[in-house]
Amino acid sequence: MDARTPKDLGLRSKLLVDKHAAYVKSFNRIWEGTDSLEFVATEHFWMSGIYWGLSAMAILGRLDEMDGEAVVQWILRCWRPDPMAKASPEGNKGIMSIKETLNENSALTATTKAAATAADNAEMAAAEADLRFNHPLDHPYGALSFNSSSSEYEKEHCRCLGGGVRSDVRPRQYIGGGFGASERNDPHLLATCSAVQILALYDRLHLVDADKIAKYVGSLQNDDGSFCGDIWGEVDTRFTYCAFLTLSILNHLHPSSPPSSPSSPLHPLPSSTHASYINLPLACQFIARCRNFDGGFGCTPGAESHSGQVFTCVAALSLAHRLDLLDIDLLSWWLAERQTPSGGLNGRPEKLQDVCYSWWCLSSLSAMGRLHWVDREELKRFILFCQDEEDGGISDRPDDMVDVYHTFFGIAGLSLLGEEGLEAFDPVWALPTKVVERLRRGRGREGE
Ligand SMILES: [Zn+2]
Repeated sequence: MDARTPKDLGLRSKLLVDKHAAYVKSFNRIWEGTDSLEFVATEHFWMSGIYWGLSAMAILGRLDEMDGEAVVQWILRCWRPDPMAKASPEGNKGIMSIKETLNENSALTATTKAAATAADNAEMAAAEADLRFNHPLDHPYGALSFNSSSSEYEKEHCRCLGGGVRSDVRPRQYIGGGFGASERNDPHLLATCSAVQILALYDRLHLVDADKIAKYVGSLQNDDGSFCGDIWGEVDTRFTYCAFLTLSILNHLHPSSPPSSPSSPLHPLPSSTHASYINLPLACQFIARCRNFDGGFGCTPGAESHSGQVFTCVAALSLAHRLDLLDIDLLSWWLAERQTPSGGLNGRPEKLQDVCYSWWCLSSLSAMGRLHWVDREELKRFILFCQDEEDGGISDRPDDMVDVYHTFFGIAGLSLLGEEGLEAFDPVWALPTKVVERLRRGRGREGE
């Protein structure tokens, strides 16, 4: 399986820009395809999927071919600014909010409450547990469970790395401000991060309340500094990165300097003052606890090193200005070892190469100034070989079925490798470099 990439790539020797753009455009207004089984089955990661597609188009210089205004309006319909608000009335038919569902159970219980015994209560608890865990299609909790093991990357990490719901982290109260992955999904940090990235891509951040989103992100931090993805308690270093990046885009990661005089109604805080709702030093300490003997990172302390997790931890520490917590040479060596004889990169030792690791590994190496530690020409040839030369799109390995996820990460990897004609893409912010520069200009200071 580690066969070298052939010297003659034929039509695939060049990046098939027009074909990839046409492939991504075929997913335009994906949220309108609700009668398609394929689209319904992927609804729980539409927000991320749309981010991948739009970012691929941005790198190709073809973003203006997408229906940006419709995308922005859809994203706003996925926003949950109010605690316990239902998902969009149009999109939420037949689906109750978690509280509503549990309240309904409580109402049923109330009718027999006077006679309730301990056994009854235990039965009720069991019924609620059954509702949560065994009815994934008609209960938001089920949707969220499905949500947290959706993409290939997520499945991979759940299967191999021991991430999951912690017994010591109890479900918490809803706080408004997050985004759902679709109009029918409850808020999640992954979807919130993707939504904010897309709004930044279109320069539409002013349409949402940044302070409210920042508070939502802060509500998901645990006492040990880690972050949950949503109210149900799954902990993973992915969520730390999503929290840091969301807050960075909104200029809420690093609190701005306090004003020289106390705020008052006559002298309100200047609008450029932003509060931080997380404990940043504690969050960085948690990342440091996830570092392994090989210099890499897992999703929780003690979990095996994995390139995806390495990216989230390196990028998060970069956003926090704490790259000093890395052993850069050791980690860069581990990442460089991920290149197989095919030219492609894998995610862990003894695994197959896969186009998406072109992003996870390269972005980390780039953030640490070690991009030259892999054979860039061989990697580029591997990515190009994974193109579908007839219908566009990029797959994980040559001649597999293409998808938007690998199409984006392949194109983003090529951008990091300096492929001619592609827009520069920031390895930490996962946004076009010119968008990051615009965000920095907007806040009037560099370095965040
Ligand atoms: Zn992959």
